[in-house]
Amino acid sequence: MHMLPGMPAPLARLVEHLGSLPGIGPKSAMRLGLNLLSKQVDDVKQLAACLADLHETMGFCDCCGSFAEQGHCGICDNMRRDSSVICVVEQPVDVLMLERGKGFSGHYHVLHGRLSPIDGLGPDQLRISSLDNRVADKEVRELILATSATVDGEATAHFIARRYAAGDVKISRIARGVPEGGELEYLDEYTLSRALDQRVIWEQRA
Ligand SMILES: [Zn+2]
Repeated sequence: MHMLPGMPAPLARLVEHLGSLPGIGPKSAMRLGLNLLSKQVDDVKQLAACLADLHETMGFCDCCGSFAEQGHCGICDNMRRDSSVICVVEQPVDVLMLERGKGFSGHYHVLHGRLSPIDGLGPDQLRISSLDNRVADKEVRELILATSATVDGEATAHFIARRYAAGDVKISRIARGVPEGGELEYLDEYTLSRALDQRVIWEQRA
């Protein structure tokens, strides 16, 4: 870490922590640290309280695996949403990204990863059995596979499509508007909405 000589230890500690965040280089970390130091003490205390609360209060939805404060998330609890359509994604952040488009009114299922044999991630490490339980529920009629357009994301989509192929549930894959190698996290809301709207039934894929 790039530190100025003579920097007071509390500021140096803060700058070091800030610099460990993704996308924050040493100069930005220093700028942020000095900015926080110049703020009103109450503002900084509120920020510190948010950070302290983060892991205490945040968890994952018992049903879909997305972010939730406790029990079920707001999407699973929303009676106006269509619980017969489940969009399967890799990470909780993907739900936030897809929700920006406001066009999807179904439910989600977060796998918490994707199949990656190299990293030792098999079906047992993903939230597949809870998806089994949801699909076994006769109410579910469509699974939209919105795993990333990476090799592992495609392999995960194939795995899930095969797993439920014999059942009554319709399987679809988000459209190819998602660029090759694309993580949902980095796509704008219009591309994502279009990819969802133009999803393709699994058997009809080229
Ligand atoms: Zn949920």
